[in-house]
Amino acid sequence: MPASADVTIRLLPDSLVNQIAAGEVVSRPAAIVKELIENSLDANATQIEVHTENGGSALVRVADDGCGIPAGELALALTRHATSKIGSLDDLDCISSMGFRGEALPSIAAVARLQLLSKVEMAGFASMIKADHGELSDVSPATGSAGTTVEVRDLFHRIPARRKFLRSERTENAQIEEIVRSIALARPEVGISWTRDGQCVLQSRSAETNPEQRIIDILGSGFVDSSLRVRAAAAGLGLDGWVGTPSIARAQPDRQFFCVNRRPVRDRVVAHAVRQAFSDVLFHGRHPTFVLNLEIDPREVDVNVHPGKTEVRFRQSRAVHDFLYRSLHAALAGTRPRAGDGPDADPTPPAANSRPESWHLGFRTASSAIGEASVPWGGLYSPTSADPVDSDPAYADPFRPGQPHDRPRPAASQPEMPPLGFALAHLHGIYILAENMHGLVLVDTHAAHERVTFEALKAQRDAGSIPVQRLLVPLRLAVSAAEADAAERFSDAAHSIGLEFARTGPVEVSVHAISSLLASGNVGQLARDLLGELAQEQGDPHWLTRRQDALLANVACRAAVRAHRQLTIAEMNALLRDMERTDRANQCSHGRPTWVQLGIDDLDRLFLRGR
Ligand code: ADP
Ligand code: MG
Repeated sequence: MPASADVTIRLLPDSLVNQIAAGEVVSRPAAIVKELIENSLDANATQIEVHTENGGSALVRVADDGCGIPAGELALALTRHATSKIGSLDDLDCISSMGFRGEALPSIAAVARLQLLSKVEMAGFASMIKADHGELSDVSPATGSAGTTVEVRDLFHRIPARRKFLRSERTENAQIEEIVRSIALARPEVGISWTRDGQCVLQSRSAETNPEQRIIDILGSGFVDSSLRVRAAAAGLGLDGWVGTPSIARAQPDRQFFCVNRRPVRDRVVAHAVRQAFSDVLFHGRHPTFVLNLEIDPREVDVNVHPGKTEVRFRQSRAVHDFLYRSLHAALAGTRPRAGDGPDADPTPPAANSRPESWHLGFRTASSAIGEASVPWGGLYSPTSADPVDSDPAYADPFRPGQPHDRPRPAASQPEMPPLGFALAHLHGIYILAENMHGLVLVDTHAAHERVTFEALKAQRDAGSIPVQRLLVPLRLAVSAAEADAAERFSDAAHSIGLEFARTGPVEVSVHAISSLLASGNVGQLARDLLGELAQEQGDPHWLTRRQDALLANVACRAAVRAHRQLTIAEMNALLRDMERTDRANQCSHGRPTWVQLGIDDLDRLFLRGR
């Protein structure tokens, strides 16, 4: 506001109004891609082609074979609040089209150079109109086939204040990819392609009769293979789609596609219901994967919450929440171990919330009992390696068949009793029960193994380099274009943490070698997780060097023994010994305790002994 006394109220000129609206509707190139594709869908297109250049800031072009716009209406299409989709308040109450606000095209036209070319089937020729930062040209005849092509060039070119908010091309491309993928998954019946800087990075033909093919095109066959088909209906609500089993959960929430009436949305009610449904089958910090569509009476949901139309408000949000939770929970129940199943039959842990509320015993947690055992690194627990389990008495398997009586007595007088004692059993494949001189020791196998692996990787790195194991046959992974970009950008840096991969196509990466310590794990998942994480990174390639520790920690977490992997007594003892000589072994790399001590005194108290 200028420092004058002029406070007269006046109407803003249309061009300024449109620029202001553009702040919300056209926040970035990906939003333009979204609005233009939505218009094509509303025009009943069967084929949509998206072209972008320089992250969309130089060019976004969306061409469709839809119904087209008559020449006489081209100028109107670029006018604010002009729409063919709703005409009354009742219509607004029951929206079935993607658009309805009539502000996308005028907003875009206000902040860029726009060209709108269209032909309705009946017309003899196509017509064209141009707009340059809000100034419309006359309509002129043009050549073109039935349908509409919108070209947007030089976004924010004349609006430096907005231009400086554009992120790097890479970031903008990743956002565009996210939009194209989510719409492609929402509308499998429409053929769609995306050409980025002249290279076709995504292409999927109409999959009307076989929606699964669309999912394979966009997310790879691995997703479908490891997913559960969900179909549920109740009281006017329908849910249809796929949820990934916990085995393909991700390090980021980047494979979560949710639609309401085929409109991709983000919603807290939905997010909460999904998180709850997964809460007892997913490891902490992992994110579920899904492609889901909720069918609901349009009158029961308000999509006019935000100009971007990506948020919704349910009239009966509780009912929607419960329906989603129940449907997903039931679908996931199929992945839990049933009575009689071996512990290896399923990698998912049982209910994590079933810890008794009265967990108030005076446990000593790890830090008080072991102290900071900073013995130098001396070897790594590995279920398959020939550790000195047999030669060293401290590794003795107390229950080894044939010599049941020669295990070390857990008496305080016995000096060779190691701090964490000796393993007794592996409870549900999750917790190691061990006996030490104070009483009972409980170890979270995964957390402990994670810390041991992490420290070992760090030690190897500090000693020079992380030894890798080459894969006999490179593992080919179908990934997103953003992940493939990341593989290219960060390949040297990834190498330094023991992972060698190379981009082998626009959306393909192959893994050639992996740190020997991790080679027995699920290499594909590990590489996918890392790529997913790298793809989110905006920084320069040196960023990874700075964040090496955090990445090693994540890698160790993913490689660590999963719950329900039943360990032998010898393996458990080897892990206990490794914990004792590993720095920071009392907490996993996420800060959770790796073990607790339940002393004889605690047990006595528990049973009210001696009172
Ligand atoms: P809205 O989609 O909310 O109606 P827009 O500004 O996005 O508003 O579009 C304005 C109008 O232009 C639409 O209502 C539609 O009639 C017409 N239109 C836009 N894009 C297309 C297209 N690809 N094919 C046919 N008509 C279109
Ligand atoms: Mg629109």
